[in-house]
Amino acid sequence: MSSDDKDSLKKRREQALVEHDQRAREITQWVKEHKGVKGLVNPYVTSVTPDSVNEIIAAIKQELENGRKEDAHILLNVMSYLQSYDFTTADEAGQNTQGFCLAVSEVGIALRHLRINPKNAMRYLIYRYKFKTLANRLALFDFVPVLHLESTMVCNLRCIMCYQSDPKMQGEINSARVKTMPWDLFTKVADEAAARGCCAVVFAGRGEPTLNSRFSDMLRYCHDKGILDIKFNTNAMTLTEAKVREWLSLGSFLTIVFSVDAADKETFEKIRIGADFDKIVSNIRMFNRIRREEFPDSPIRTRVNMVTFRDDQDAEKARAFWSPLVDEFSARNATPEQSGSIYQYGPDGVPLNIAPSKTCSQLFGHLYVWADGTVNPCEDDYLSHLRLGNARTESIYDIWNGPKMMQLRIAHMSGRRSVCHPCNNCSRC
Ligand code: SF4
Ligand code: SF4
Repeated sequence: MSSDDKDSLKKRREQALVEHDQRAREITQWVKEHKGVKGLVNPYVTSVTPDSVNEIIAAIKQELENGRKEDAHILLNVMSYLQSYDFTTADEAGQNTQGFCLAVSEVGIALRHLRINPKNAMRYLIYRYKFKTLANRLALFDFVPVLHLESTMVCNLRCIMCYQSDPKMQGEINSARVKTMPWDLFTKVADEAAARGCCAVVFAGRGEPTLNSRFSDMLRYCHDKGILDIKFNTNAMTLTEAKVREWLSLGSFLTIVFSVDAADKETFEKIRIGADFDKIVSNIRMFNRIRREEFPDSPIRTRVNMVTFRDDQDAEKARAFWSPLVDEFSARNATPEQSGSIYQYGPDGVPLNIAPSKTCSQLFGHLYVWADGTVNPCEDDYLSHLRLGNARTESIYDIWNGPKMMQLRIAHMSGRRSVCHPCNNCSRC
């Protein structure tokens, strides 16, 4: 490359960085000024009735009367909660509730488990209880409750609010020797998670998970290992009939989240650069047709999680458009860290210190394994400043309970979050 070409490339990169940073600032500003959409939810349509709740209560009683000791107090609490169940409970996240809550969709999943394998119904209820109450109270589990695996760090789109549109992230991808999680690394981590009784694996991270050619094998492997709650996000651009049949034939309680942020082609394609709105809609319709015609009993559920951060996104319009196409729809305003600005300090060059005295619950509920084995506490820190270790050479158990993770928890819990970057620019708590 001539020196002129090098100069021009450097200038283009610098310009891209300036544009990204400017866009991130605009999104952050918009989020600050718009408190509108807090949590618009159309819940999963299930056949949960008072009789079916009673069926779960009876199964818990039976389990306890049979002499179950492990986690018996949790099952008692769940039983007591279900005895006066509120059928309007819609939001399964439940992270900010005072006590314990199960969304109707979660009760529906427990019920499906009960009818297939009652032991799994008990495991599921205990896992949801622990995750929603204990992680919320910053209780430390022996092993991470929800493990996130990045099947690939690359994506076919460049959505404007995403890490993928940050030139620094593209630099990481270009220089990475391993961009797609090798099978042996995946099985090492999945085996350990299953052996430790981990119930939840989410295929998430910084890329589009379905681009890994062995992605369906990964789902099957987790299912066969007894992971109860498997989830992945997809932009739905690469869906094919063959893939859809592979997923539906798993018989797994899989949750597929379609990442869409608008109801009309023009807005959608302005946000999701490289996407084809019509193709995505037709792919999701194809998924629905195959499920309806060939796998009517599939426990797979689909969801749209819309994130709002611009004036031209109409959440109500989006709900009307997407609700008939998926089992569940939810819309929320973006958080500042979802705008891609987590590494940006304020105009005076000092950290934003958005939540200086708050402890991030992420440090008690989640762990991320990137495609090359790097382990990180969250995906908001997509450039891995907080890197904790590498799953190739260390166990997840050792990393989760290791000194780096502990130091991070202690810094947060003792009011020293401001010394951790990018926690000092992050609003999560
Ligand atoms: S599809 Fe997902 S991972 Fe890809 S650029 Fe868009 S938001 Fe990012
Ligand atoms: S506070 Fe820190 S650990 Fe928590 S999500 Fe933000 S950057 Fe990640």
